[in-house]
Amino acid sequence: MAIDDRVGQSGSGVRRDLRDALGALAATPRLLVALDFDGTLAPVVDDPEKARATPEARAAVERLIEVPDTRVALVSGRSLQDLEQVAPFGDRVLLVGSHGIELRLDDPDDVLALDDGERRQLDVLEQVLDQIADTLDTVWIEPKPAGFAVHTRLATERHSRVAHLVAINELKAEAPDATVRLGKDVIEFSVRSTTKGEAVEHLRRYTHATAVFYAGDDVTDEDAFVALTADDLGVKSGDGPTAADHRVAGVKEVAAVLSLLATLRETHARDAPGTN
Ligand SMILES: [Mg+2]
Repeated sequence: MAIDDRVGQSGSGVRRDLRDALGALAATPRLLVALDFDGTLAPVVDDPEKARATPEARAAVERLIEVPDTRVALVSGRSLQDLEQVAPFGDRVLLVGSHGIELRLDDPDDVLALDDGERRQLDVLEQVLDQIADTLDTVWIEPKPAGFAVHTRLATERHSRVAHLVAINELKAEAPDATVRLGKDVIEFSVRSTTKGEAVEHLRRYTHATAVFYAGDDVTDEDAFVALTADDLGVKSGDGPTAADHRVAGVKEVAAVLSLLATLRETHARDAPGTN
């Protein structure tokens, strides 16, 4: 049966080559649908707290969640806490926050599992950074999912420079594998450096997926697209260079693609029950 006959009107607006690729993907035994949030399910807005998935995207994701042998994951640069606040799917989806550093899988207590080596590094980080914060009282330390942020906003320029230098030098000796990320009035140290690509690999193993669908709009989503294999399908939302196989104009079109994927996957589950 041609895909057009099976999906009726819900495939309208999705290009032929993408429709065909979605048809092939929908027949996979176990499907992982991994989705960026901002710029993919939700239009980008000035106040990040106000970002919401469009009703169409939300409806399509709700349908995908219900299909047997299909898991949905949101993969975002937002912190896990942020992501939980803006994403409306509760614990029915898997969540990846902070570009892969934070994971919330099915066990709600298992939000981030550092290994022993990372835990030791985290302890060292904390000791070194606490010392610096004690010495310079305008510098304060914020715990992060896999590290710490050293805030120097209230420090004089000189103190801020001292804090940066001391932190970097001490940690070079004490925790050489820590990742350092410089921001405005903040320096972040992390014992885990990861990407959305690694997150997708992790989710693929965790869900035992036989194929992955990924959609995203940003530069960091490119790591995920690169991690996809020939059996997977990547859809880039919006402009910009991409390694994804397919591109759509934006959030509205992503929702149409997800709606079609839901229809195809529902049809597959109905036509071939229990074969997975
Ligand atoms: Mg995005």
